Order: sequence, then C-alpha cells, then structure tokens
Amino acid sequence: MSSVHSANAPRLVFATGNAHKVAELEAIIAPLLPEGAGRIARMSDFDVTEPVEDGATFAENSLIKARSLCAATGIAALADDSGLCVDIMGGAPGIFSARWSGAHGNDRANLELLLAQLSDVPLHLRGAAFVSAAALVLPDGREFVELGRVDGHLTTAPQGERGFGYDPIFVPSGMDRTAAQLTAEEKNAISHRGIAFRALAPRIIEVLAGS
Ligand code: IMP
Repeated sequence: MSSVHSANAPRLVFATGNAHKVAELEAIIAPLLPEGAGRIARMSDFDVTEPVEDGATFAENSLIKARSLCAATGIAALADDSGLCVDIMGGAPGIFSARWSGAHGNDRANLELLLAQLSDVPLHLRGAAFVSAAALVLPDGREFVELGRVDGHLTTAPQGERGFGYDPIFVPSGMDRTAAQLTAEEKNAISHRGIAFRALAPRIIEVLAGS
C-alpha cells in the first residue's frame, strides 16, 4: 500500500507483526463490526519499524505500539500487549513473556525455560494468568486502553498443537485442556485478548464509522 489517502483507504491498522495475534484479533473483532464497516489494515501493509517496548506495564507497552503506528501511518492504530503472569514467580514473565529466553523471542525456547524454572513446583502452586492490554490511539490524540485476563494453571509438559506462545502449558480455569488444545473459537471466547478487545469494540466501531 503506497498511500492511506485513497477513497477506500483503511481507517484503522493493527499494530502487531505477530501473525497469530493478527488472526486472533481479526476473528475476535470481525463478528462485532456492523455490515459495511471499513477494513482493518495490517502493520505489514505499511513500511514501518516497531518501536522499543520500554514501558513498565502491559498498558504502557500497548500504548507505545499504538502511538508509534498511528504517528507513522496517520490513521488510528490498535495494539495488543500481552503475556503470561505466573503467581509463584511474582507475575513473571509478564511484560517479558515474548523474550523470556532472550531477545530472539522464540516461543518454544521461552516455554521450555519456564517449565525448567518451575520443575519442582507442585500443581497447587502452578497458578498463572494470561493478561492483555488492548490500546486504541487516534490521530486526534484520543487514547483508550482495556485490560483482559484469564486465570488458570500451568501443566508440567506441553500438550496440544494449536495457538502459540505458552498456550501448550496453560489450562484455563474450569477447563481440562490446555489453550493449545482448544479450537480458535473456544480460545477467543474466554481469552485475555478476547475480553480486552471486546471491551474496546464500541470505540473501534466508532472509528470505523468515522466518528
Ligand atoms: P508481545 O507481542 O510483546 O505482546 O508479547 C506477547 C507474548 O506473550 C507472546 O510472545 C507469548 O509468549 C505470550 N502470549 C501472549 N498472549 C498469548 C496467548 O494467547 N497464548 C500464548 N502466549 C501468549
């Protein structure tokens, strides 16, 4: 896309290069939009660089991503910052979830390091939660953030092939399967990202409607 100013130009762009997150966000948001709502562009449609995520919270980092992409594209930007918070680790990996085993952000290495760190921790102390901050930043300076959280516990070995990140070791409360064993619909219905973005949906609809 060379310009955002053509007749059917998008009004909104997702500030994430993570293909799993894009797929989840599209599946979460699409059913909430009225017929004829404008399309939501992907970050890969633009020639932009990702900002340094140097905030101290999920909310701050989601705003950093959304502000940066809004400034670079001139249209409203929607960002997710999320992670896994393990009770016995005081909420870690938290905002460091993507790079827990190093800057490369390798999902499998992150998961294996976490399992090794928790190897002696019994089931009743393996409580954890996924948390997501959903941010919307508009070119006129308005900013909105909503948080979503899903509680659960961690298994001792990965199970399931779906999802991404720490999904194979996270069992949501009230379920007997890991998030990687859920269908996309099942995960999105209860996930931290689903909760946060459904809370933001009224604002997203306003942006797409041009108000
Ligand atoms: P971010 O892209 O900086 O927000 O990093 C998010 C990281 O948190 C991902 O790389 C995963 O490691 C983890 N994470 C966030 N959401 C999920 C999820 O829905 N399933 C599994 N891992 C997740």
